[in-house]
Amino acid sequence: MDLIPVTDLKQWTYCARIVYYHRVMPALAKPTFKMKEAIAAQDLIESLEMRRGLKEYGIETAGRRFGVWLKDTALGLSGKLDLLLESADQVAVVDFKLTSGEPGDNHRMQLTGHSLLAETATGLPARRGFLYRIPDGRVFPIEITDALRQSVLAAIKGIRRVSEEQSLPEATVVRGRCVECEFANYCADVW
Ligand code: SF4
Repeated sequence: MDLIPVTDLKQWTYCARIVYYHRVMPALAKPTFKMKEAIAAQDLIESLEMRRGLKEYGIETAGRRFGVWLKDTALGLSGKLDLLLESADQVAVVDFKLTSGEPGDNHRMQLTGHSLLAETATGLPARRGFLYRIPDGRVFPIEITDALRQSVLAAIKGIRRVSEEQSLPEATVVRGRCVECEFANYCADVW
């Protein structure tokens, strides 16, 4: 089975059409400034994190692993975790984000997708995850709720349906997102 990258969950929540274009019409996609910036930021993550103690995460005994690739074939999901914290009785994922705004639903979806992968890989519960906002170093704890878990499962189902049926999803209702979108020229109906 084709594994869905966790980054697709994030995009799906932001605008389902972006996932459609990437999966059904991949030739249209080109690296955007934000994507290039994100790749460069990976280099910063480890040095930033090693200066921070584990106390803020509430699991001071945890071991840290950076850049961990995981997959769950039963769930049909794969992804690269920025940072995995693992103690004797729990795991927690830390996702780093470059933008200065508050955490959005798309970030919560990505964090939940990574947390599900971490649970499968370790057999330990992921009750909370964390979003690390790079510009100011602030850490946001996010509870991995049942509702978020269900949203991830629904998104996986939706992405599979769009890929198989090649059906164009609805445009995001937040039309401000279209202004800088790399696919703006292909969504004539939003203008
Ligand atoms: S232009 Fe708007 S509706 Fe179209 S893919 Fe981009 S964000 Fe989504």
